[in-house]
Amino acid sequence: MNFYSLNKIAPNVSFKDAVIKGLAPDKGLYFPVKITPLSQEFLNNIEKFPNEEIAFEVIKQFVADEIPEKELKEIIDETLNFDFPLVSIEENIAALELFHGPTMAFKDVGARFMARCLGYFNKEEKTAKVTVLVATSGDTGGAVASGFLGVEGVDVVILYPSGKVSDVQEKQLTTLGQNITALEVNGTFDDCQAMVKRAFLDGELIANKNLTSANSINVARWLPQMFYFFFAYKQLKSKHKDLIFSVPSGNFGNICAGLMAHKLGLPVKHFIASTNINDIVPNYMETGIYTPKPSKQTISNAMDVGDPSNFVRILEIFKNDDAKLKKVLSSYSFTDKETQNAMREIKEKHHYIADPHGAVGYLGLKKYGIDPNAFGIFLETAHPVKFLNVVEPIIKETLELPKQIKEVIDKEKVSIKISKYLELKEFLLNS
Ligand SMILES: *Cc1c(COP(=O)(O)O)cnc(C)c1O
Repeated sequence: MNFYSLNKIAPNVSFKDAVIKGLAPDKGLYFPVKITPLSQEFLNNIEKFPNEEIAFEVIKQFVADEIPEKELKEIIDETLNFDFPLVSIEENIAALELFHGPTMAFKDVGARFMARCLGYFNKEEKTAKVTVLVATSGDTGGAVASGFLGVEGVDVVILYPSGKVSDVQEKQLTTLGQNITALEVNGTFDDCQAMVKRAFLDGELIANKNLTSANSINVARWLPQMFYFFFAYKQLKSKHKDLIFSVPSGNFGNICAGLMAHKLGLPVKHFIASTNINDIVPNYMETGIYTPKPSKQTISNAMDVGDPSNFVRILEIFKNDDAKLKKVLSSYSFTDKETQNAMREIKEKHHYIADPHGAVGYLGLKKYGIDPNAFGIFLETAHPVKFLNVVEPIIKETLELPKQIKEVIDKEKVSIKISKYLELKEFLLNS
């Protein structure tokens, strides 16, 4: 059994059960029982391997033999059918663009991997139909909808707050059809999240439906995010510099995957978790006290999280030793004003258009300081067109829509409007 619950009450489970359950029955997040570093020989020769082989080496110990090598390789090939370029910004700083997938946010990798794992388990062992239930403030819904489209044995139900996601994001959630249903909630993101949480605790629903979640608490969404850090290393190894990664962070899944990559032996000097004014972790790093707060709205809204769920996994990686944690991780918070200024600076000085989340990552590198022996990488987590109404007025330029966006923008929206939990429950029981 490869995964234990961080609440330490529920029994250990296999990869398959961790994926199907999402969260452990004691409400803890699953964490690998054992983490074996990759061989030095592999890391020394990483530039000789295609991305798909690197991904296989990185993930195989966590999947174990629950998906045979051939099928796991197919899942990886399908997950990674786009590029992860490093774009030079300054002499010692580059953006790692993670937005070349179908919905133009980094979440595509985790969503596609998780969808295909669930699809495999369903096909091989005829597990009962699984319903993926997910609340979104924007990007997660689109990535999950696209990743799970047409996957047999899996229905996807996405709750989103009416009028509070961007036009592009709404089209990405509501135009696919097939096994994807969008529920348009008369309320806020917090209302959507509360309904989803209530559903997972509803005895009558649990007795009738196999519900799982598709946010980064699910190990099959979280762990594949390790790949990006290895792909960046592969491209930068020949520079022989100390690598510093800055990760724009909300729920802290992505940065936690980077720290897992480090645990597997990836030679990284330091990680920076860059946040907007939702500064729970920067505060923790300063005071040693973790104080969740209600989230505040910002222009980098995918990071408006007041109680980042994956932070407990980060503490587990460092065995709750704050001194060890601080050697590897720093965390800084930035205001919207600083983010806007950074977007302007990156455009004017370096002719690059960063989205608000990437700009927060850039600010993290600047604050930490990149000396001449080091090389800083910030993760560009979404394409700037996903945040058109924020980006265009700041950079005073009209952005051209990439083909992934053009494809959905004229399609017809289909959603079911709901206002109350009972409407969600009825929908689930009758579908
Ligand atoms: C989800 C998201 C983030 C935050 O990632 P976490 O893994 O939750 O920390 C950052 N930027 C964008 C664009 C996102 O969609």
